[in-house]
Amino acid sequence: DSQDYVGFDTITQQMERKFLKRGFNFNVILVGESGMGKSTLVNSIFSSHLVDSQGRRTAQEVIRKTTEISPVTQTLEENGVRVRLTIIDTPGFGDQCNNEGCWVPVIKYIKDQHAAYLERELKPQRDRVINDTRVHACLYFLNPGSRGLRPLDVEVLKRLTEVTNVIPVIAKSDSMTVEERTVFKRRIKEELVFHRIAVYPYPSEEDGEEDRLLNSSIRDLVPFAVVGSEEIIDVNGTPVRGRRHGWG
Ligand code: GDP
Ligand code: MG
Repeated sequence: DSQDYVGFDTITQQMERKFLKRGFNFNVILVGESGMGKSTLVNSIFSSHLVDSQGRRTAQEVIRKTTEISPVTQTLEENGVRVRLTIIDTPGFGDQCNNEGCWVPVIKYIKDQHAAYLERELKPQRDRVINDTRVHACLYFLNPGSRGLRPLDVEVLKRLTEVTNVIPVIAKSDSMTVEERTVFKRRIKEELVFHRIAVYPYPSEEDGEEDRLLNSSIRDLVPFAVVGSEEIIDVNGTPVRGRRHGWG
C-alpha cells in the first residue's frame, strides 16, 4: 500500500537538482611539445585570455613561455548549468635535447590530484563538497610536421593513458593540406592500435546503441585536427577569429 512508499524513485531528480545548482568541475590538462599552440588553442576556445600564449607580435619580442604547470580556473554558465573549468597548461616538451623523463612532472601532477581527492574523501569529517582537482581529460598535441607518432609520443601517451582520458589532437592543422591530414590521421590511428594505446572514447559495457554509434563516429575523427588563433580578421566586414595565409 501507499504507506510503504519510501520515495527513492525521486532520488535521481533530487541529486540532479543539487548537482546543477552546485555546478561541477571539469579539469583539462594540455600536453605536448612547446610551440604547438597549446596556450593559443585554449584562448581560442574560451575567447578570453585564460593562459598566456607564447605568440610574438614582433621579432624582437621575447618568447613568453609556460615554465611551470599552471592551472587557471574560470566559471562558465550555460542554461543554468555551471561549470568550473580548469585548464592546466604545462611547459612544452622538446626544449632540451634530452627529453628523457620530461613527462614525469605531468604524470606526478595528475597522480597527486587523485591522491588529494581520495584523502579528502576518506576524511571522517568529509567536506560536503569536495573540490575536485582531478584531471578529467588531457589534450595531447601531435606535431603536424612529424610523419606519425614519435618515440617520445609513444612513451608519453602510454603513461598518460594510464592516469587520465587522453584526447589526441593534431596541432596547427592549418599547416597541412587536406590530403596530408587524411594520411596523418590514418597513420596515427594505426600506430595507436599498434602500440596498444587506448584513447578516448573508450568502449563501455554500459553503452546503449545510441552511445555506441556516437562513440564510433567520434572515434573516426580522432585525432582531431585543431587550429588556434588569437587574431581577429576582417572577412567581408565580419570580424572572425582566424589565421591568414597566402592561400586563404
Ligand atoms: P605552446 O608552447 O604550445 O603553448 O604554443 P603557443 O600557443 O604559445 O603558440 C606558439 C606559436 O604558434 C605562436 O606563434 C602561435 O601564434 C602559433 N600558433 C598557435 N596555434 C596555431 C595554429 O593553429 N596554427 C598555426 N599556423 N600557428 C599556430
Ligand atoms: Mg604555452
